[in-house]
Amino acid sequence: MSSAKGASIGIDLGTTYSCVGVFQHGKVEIIANDQGNRTTPNYVAFTDTERLIGDAAKNQVAMNPNNTVFDAKRLIGRKFDEHVMQSWSNLDHWPFKVINYEGKPKVQVEYKGENKTFYPEEISSMVLGKMKEIAEAYLGQKVNNAVITVPAYFSHSQRQATKDAGVIAGLNVLRIINEPTAAAIAYGLDKDIGCECNVLIFDLGGVYLNVSIVTIEDGFFEVKAIAGDTHLGGEDFDNRMVDHFVEEFKRKFKKDISQNKRALRRLCTACEVAKKTLSSSSQAGIEIDSLYEGIDFYTSITRARFEEMNSDLFRGTLEPVEKVLRDAKLDKSQIHDIVLVGGSTRISKIQKQLQDFFNGRELNKGINPDEAVAYGAAVTAAILTRDKSENVQDLVLLDVAPLSLGIETAGGVMTTFMKRNTTVPTIHTKTITPCSDTIQVYEGEGAMTKDNNLLGKIELTGIPQAPRRVPQIEVTFDIDANGILNVSAVTKSTGKKRKKISATADIPWFSKDEIEQMIQDAEKYKIEDDILRKKVAAKNSLESYSFNIKSSIKAVDERCKQTFTWIENNGLADKEEFEYEQKELEKDCKSIISKLYH
Ligand code: AMP
Repeated sequence: MSSAKGASIGIDLGTTYSCVGVFQHGKVEIIANDQGNRTTPNYVAFTDTERLIGDAAKNQVAMNPNNTVFDAKRLIGRKFDEHVMQSWSNLDHWPFKVINYEGKPKVQVEYKGENKTFYPEEISSMVLGKMKEIAEAYLGQKVNNAVITVPAYFSHSQRQATKDAGVIAGLNVLRIINEPTAAAIAYGLDKDIGCECNVLIFDLGGVYLNVSIVTIEDGFFEVKAIAGDTHLGGEDFDNRMVDHFVEEFKRKFKKDISQNKRALRRLCTACEVAKKTLSSSSQAGIEIDSLYEGIDFYTSITRARFEEMNSDLFRGTLEPVEKVLRDAKLDKSQIHDIVLVGGSTRISKIQKQLQDFFNGRELNKGINPDEAVAYGAAVTAAILTRDKSENVQDLVLLDVAPLSLGIETAGGVMTTFMKRNTTVPTIHTKTITPCSDTIQVYEGEGAMTKDNNLLGKIELTGIPQAPRRVPQIEVTFDIDANGILNVSAVTKSTGKKRKKISATADIPWFSKDEIEQMIQDAEKYKIEDDILRKKVAAKNSLESYSFNIKSSIKAVDERCKQTFTWIENNGLADKEEFEYEQKELEKDCKSIISKLYH
């Protein structure tokens, strides 16, 4: 890992926005994108002619709702029929189509006039590729390595799928770390914390709520416990507001806009803006021209109304706080600091509730809630590539496994090997007497495996029978620093002999071949994007040359007019044709001018 070549970055792959940082010259720099924004929307759009990623994609969403994909993080590493996916009310709010492809979700879009499907991991890889490009443009060199953050509650599959997305984007993923851990690093780095200090990280973003307790002592970070809600975030608040205005529209104009994707998307965008306004003002306006059937929708909402319509969701944010304290066996009074992370922590009611819960204690708003996670990821990347800078040298990171892990035993019972919140990296071994030829590995908190998530299976074919014909199998759960699990099984030592049977459980999210195919596709799309970019540059060059040379000399002016007509009629021409046209124009203009003066 430490020998990683090329620059290393930290990427906060958020649900709604992503942020990239790099550690250089002894400090972290958060890198702005080509639009000058320090966070980039996780939007990918497909049009008749091109693929757009980030701001450009988000800006055209209302015109192209069916082919603009966002929220890929909600789908990543999940099976299509997982009940959480089916129960999401958000499925109705997605204007793009999600299909079931061999048990995994895929988004279906129209790209360059053809129907195409993409795994959510491919969409995320496009965003990661964009973040890589942003960093490369800033650093002026290739970026090869990255630390990528995931919500603390991400399962094994979701972590593995995120790692795969990084690989598809052409990144060497140094490590996958939990977002709150990254935030704790951002919080702790500049502070000279002598004694042991318990920090509660309250991270409320667009989609998820993550609460964790991190203990910091002398540059040593240990995540004590994590809790969260995978279905609670800013988008849920937006959706409540959307529902409210859909009803208002119905009341005022006797029209139902709920089936019109374009109108809903425009309303949703306006609601998000209004929600942000309500974090600093007591009232916000909504003004959407011609929202539906030519009707202008001008209305407003007060902060009190917004808080009332979300009161149950807001209250729900405290449950994980109570849980994390219970799990860490800490009392409120033992928390030294409460750190706010994630855009939705700007909502005043959320802050007030949290402050009241901690008996009026001041909340720490010292780090930028949008950038803290990328900041910590960049520091981690520097540690893993052994940056010599003093600040990062002594940091030690310990994380925890978010879910319990175990295997199925007789009667569908979940036999837990490792309880959730176990510190990782870690190795746990148990000896079992298997009841069938297959060991099934699960994650989750249910007592029965049917309530948990099947990660993979190990086939026990070829086990030598032990004395008394009872095979004894030693099963090892090994979680690496990324939180990614490897399971292996060996026959129990008989004397000195120890025979290894079927190696590791089959738990990758995608097969090597699938990843290879996606890498090839990603390269193909990138080449297509590059061709388009160069073509646009050539077209711009021709246009600006024509505008500049256009002069009072009639013959030159006439010649330029010819070029403008050519451009108008040849919008689909390729780079070489634009370049050829420019050369011809240059030649003709030179010859006209030289004839004039000789
Ligand atoms: P994150 O995932 O941390 O980037 O958070 C994104 C979420 O924060 C989105 O739902 C945003 O609408 C929300 N957000 C950003 N700024 C504000 C604000 N000033 N007030 C309320 N919510 C905000």
